[in-house]
Amino acid sequence: MRAAVMWEPGETFEVRDDARRAAPGPGQVVVRIRAAGVCQTDLSLAAGAFGQSMPVILGHEGAGEVLEIGIGVTGTAPGDRVLITWVPPCGRCFHCLRHEPYICSNRKGSTQLSESSSLMVGDKAVQTGLGTATFSEETVVPTTAILPLPEDIPFEYAALLGCAVPTGFGAAVNSARVQPGESVLVIGCGAVGMSAIQGARIAGAAELVALDPMASRRDLALTLGATHAVGPGDDPRRALTGAPGFDVVIDAVARPSTIRTAWDQARRGGRVVVVGAGRAEDMVEFSAHELFHGEKRLIGSYYGSSDMARELPRLISLWRSGRLNLSAMINDVVGLDQINEVASAQKAGTVLRTMLAL
Ligand SMILES: [Zn+2]
Ligand SMILES: [Zn+2]
Repeated sequence: MRAAVMWEPGETFEVRDDARRAAPGPGQVVVRIRAAGVCQTDLSLAAGAFGQSMPVILGHEGAGEVLEIGIGVTGTAPGDRVLITWVPPCGRCFHCLRHEPYICSNRKGSTQLSESSSLMVGDKAVQTGLGTATFSEETVVPTTAILPLPEDIPFEYAALLGCAVPTGFGAAVNSARVQPGESVLVIGCGAVGMSAIQGARIAGAAELVALDPMASRRDLALTLGATHAVGPGDDPRRALTGAPGFDVVIDAVARPSTIRTAWDQARRGGRVVVVGAGRAEDMVEFSAHELFHGEKRLIGSYYGSSDMARELPRLISLWRSGRLNLSAMINDVVGLDQINEVASAQKAGTVLRTMLAL
């Protein structure tokens, strides 16, 4: 089978025809991936961030069909259309029992190569990136990592619902709980930020401001529901009439400078949601006085606080009714052979998502 392999941090992907996968173990399924997106986190992992070991087959935004099922698997069968989720909930841990499956304690998403890796390239065991490895024609995942897809959603649209869309939409709807009439600022308009803009629009935000250095992204943000779009040199608060700051600020970048901007742009008593994948070495400073005096709430958002079993049908309904625009977030669909061009374009920000068809 074909797969895109990363051999050393920071190198280019090598598309190989001689990748192999193990038979599905008990409770596992094999998915024939049909479409995959290259998420910003994949680019960070490809550069060796978050302790990613090599070689690895990355990819965690993917959709396809069940090909084979292991012993004890019920509720799905070969031929079923499915979405892959990179946080398969165990259903039993502290967080799952508290209806927080997105932070399941038993997620098998280690960035380290385990001895039981299900993927090989040539004679080498290869790490299964984030436990999903969707840059491969076939991948072996626990049955808890698949969610059923209806017939009417194309695979390349569905794949976006595996990471970027629930992460951004959920940051607005689940983590920030945007209310009708609130003012919202979204910092960083990649696929996650654009999804946060759509989530805030659907939740009923009044003033909805997009902040991004790229004019093309600001234009797209306006078509997806932003009422104003500004660059880094502008003060987003100019969009507000009579309010001292935003009710909600969503930071989809998560660098110290953007988190600080998010904090400063929120009004006293407002909410700041940090949804980007922040790095362990990045520190953000607040004085004890401003924490107390500002009465702001600082909220981390992991996978958009999305319970995917509930979120996926909701997102599909919103897409089907024309409220959630997925097509505008996809620039193109190309073959796996072009993964390096796709990665460069996304790194440069010239495309939002070019989906890979496998
Ligand atoms: Zn769990
Ligand atoms: Zn992602």
